[in-house]
Amino acid sequence: MSNERLLERFLRYVQVDTTAREGTDAYPSSPGQLELGRLLRDELLAMGLADAVQSPFGIVMATVPGNVPHRAPTVAFNAHLDTSPETTGANVRPQVVRGYQGGEIPLPGDSTKRITVDANPELGALVGKTIITTDGTTLLGADDKAGVAVIMEAAEQLLEQSHLARGGVRIVFTCDEEIGHGVDHVDLEQLGARAAYTLDGSGAGEIDIETFSADLAVVTVRGVNIHPSIAKGRMVNAIRVAADFVERLPREHASPETTDGRDGFLHPYVVEGKVEEVNLRIILRDFDTAVLAERAETLREAARQSMAAFAGSAIDIRINPQYRNMADGLKREPRAVEFARQAMLRLGREPKMSIIRGGTDGSRFTELGLPTPNLSTGEHNPHSPLEWTCLEEMADAVAVLLELAQLWAEETGE
Ligand SMILES: [Zn+2]
Repeated sequence: MSNERLLERFLRYVQVDTTAREGTDAYPSSPGQLELGRLLRDELLAMGLADAVQSPFGIVMATVPGNVPHRAPTVAFNAHLDTSPETTGANVRPQVVRGYQGGEIPLPGDSTKRITVDANPELGALVGKTIITTDGTTLLGADDKAGVAVIMEAAEQLLEQSHLARGGVRIVFTCDEEIGHGVDHVDLEQLGARAAYTLDGSGAGEIDIETFSADLAVVTVRGVNIHPSIAKGRMVNAIRVAADFVERLPREHASPETTDGRDGFLHPYVVEGKVEEVNLRIILRDFDTAVLAERAETLREAARQSMAAFAGSAIDIRINPQYRNMADGLKREPRAVEFARQAMLRLGREPKMSIIRGGTDGSRFTELGLPTPNLSTGEHNPHSPLEWTCLEEMADAVAVLLELAQLWAEETGE
């Protein structure tokens, strides 16, 4: 099957600016997400998926109805419509490199930027393929419009190839994943799936089966402000207290800049304030959920020491849970990962199980009772003007979804 329709879809979806905006109460956070969602709903309707809907929150759902005589479990495919606020997603001008020759890829809109093989060793295996980049002035939005295009193409191919057995396949597109709100307005009962797959992974052939567990610590440091001229013995400078507090936090083997693999960390990433009060935001991350409590205790111990060193200061720490490692939830429905593995094996590929030092919508879905591993969909260098994707890797992901639909259709029951 030619990949031209998949390419055409992807190039069309990235034209819509769906940059997520932080610091707004609106949901979704940007009107472009509603626009892209409408476009997708209309395309799904045009394919013949009569139940395609967009909720007032911009969540798009549709069903590819099953075609097997028995009752097979329903499976869902998910991608997110928004793109990262870290790099602009307005006026994306994609560059399509057909028959990639190897070597570096210059970006036509910014002569200082190029995609090099040094920084992207995976390009070495993609000679002859179709690579899509930006012009260097925006992100591409393959995160996650590659996933969106893959799911749309898989839906159309399932309908065209009606000889392929399938149980019910649900499609769900979410909003504001990049700012941590992808799952806020998804009704899992309405979705009605036994398992789901996020199409939001890098490269090809990977199945992400673990994510971090994550808490956010909001720290308030209170001092006492008074005019510096009469401050002796009376002023308590919250800025100095906060500096002392941060200095007490372990850095070696405990910060993002000193860890990788399975090691977690605590990471102060926002500090703002004045003499009277300083506010800090610190993220706590670990693959072992129980360790998050130990990291919180590390913060409390540092706070006690700083308060002792600065009489009259007060440090308040509030811990907010963010998301949990999906590994535990996935164990409750082993078929979710096993069928993804089998789908790749059936296509003659060696699946690679991997872990993410972060979270996905699937972390939250899994925590809420819907087991949701993450699959490769051809993303590279997300959130950056150096972002790129490979058409053949996206086509690969479509093929995996077709196999998955068939594997689940062989099952009986809910
Ligand atoms: Zn993503």
